[in-house]
Amino acid sequence: LQPLIEVKNLKKYFEINNGIGKKKNVVKAIDDVSFTIFKGETYGLVGESGCGKSTTGRTLLKLIEATSGECIYNGKNILQMKNREMAEVRRDFQMVFQDPYSSLNPKKRIGQILEESLIIHKIGDKNSRTEMTLEILKKVGFQEEHYFRYPHEFSGGQRQRIGLARALILNPQLIICDEPVSALDVSIQSQVINLLQEVQKSFDLTYLFIAHDLSVVRHISDRIGVMYLGNIVEEAQTDELFERPLHPYTQALISAVPISHPKQAREKIKLKGEIPSPLNPPSGCVFHTRCPYATEICQSQKPDMRTFSSGRRVACHLVEE
Ligand code: SF4
Ligand code: MG
Repeated sequence: LQPLIEVKNLKKYFEINNGIGKKKNVVKAIDDVSFTIFKGETYGLVGESGCGKSTTGRTLLKLIEATSGECIYNGKNILQMKNREMAEVRRDFQMVFQDPYSSLNPKKRIGQILEESLIIHKIGDKNSRTEMTLEILKKVGFQEEHYFRYPHEFSGGQRQRIGLARALILNPQLIICDEPVSALDVSIQSQVINLLQEVQKSFDLTYLFIAHDLSVVRHISDRIGVMYLGNIVEEAQTDELFERPLHPYTQALISAVPISHPKQAREKIKLKGEIPSPLNPPSGCVFHTRCPYATEICQSQKPDMRTFSSGRRVACHLVEE
């Protein structure tokens, strides 16, 4: 397996005024996150809202500027790139959002919207752009007539397919999918997921798939990183993670997923309290205020992310190989 991107020690800190004099509070939205995404795989990033998973995705596209860290792509750290160099990467990395509607110009026909992406990236001439657009629309299940329709004439699931077509038309390497199905009805969700898997094969794509819904992430991901309060606390192959979650937070998340087969039912782990504010994150292990196994060391020492021989990674004082 070849890495497509290597994210190293990524941090995003925001400073906000705390209202008292000139004192500022620091929000650690991403606090030292490292992971590698291999070519052709789907890497799932999962966690509750506010854990930093969307911010992580956006930082890689430089929609948000990282505080520090690296993202190595083709041997270069893209976080250090100037705009001109970054333009190429922008074509290779595309994003599919939760609701593409907000980014589809309501006054333009779908065909025009897709062709605009090509114009921005200086691809093709007028005729070949139309050809490419019709072809890509077909690939995501539309007919020629849809080329002339306006965004409001499409359903939520169809709009998500348009969002995907707009990403695909640039022939990207990586698509960052940020909650791509969470606004859709369950019946439509699986259609969009199936389409994502289909085009992954035919376009040789790599996905970073961000979602809060563990069962959706499980269905599509090869490997999963679990995020909590700006940290990745565990990372493993999807099967391994579900069969034997090691981090107490992962255990709690997985125990909360409804299971259709009663024999596989796990005891539900109820976490105490709420997710702490990222404005005032706990000392030591960020999970210690809610962890059923927390000991004294957990309050004072942040556990290192350790890599086991199987390749899985866990950040918890208690977990041994
Ligand atoms: Fe729980 Fe301690 Fe492990 Fe953190 S380090 S998950 S508080 S046992
Ligand atoms: Mg989000």
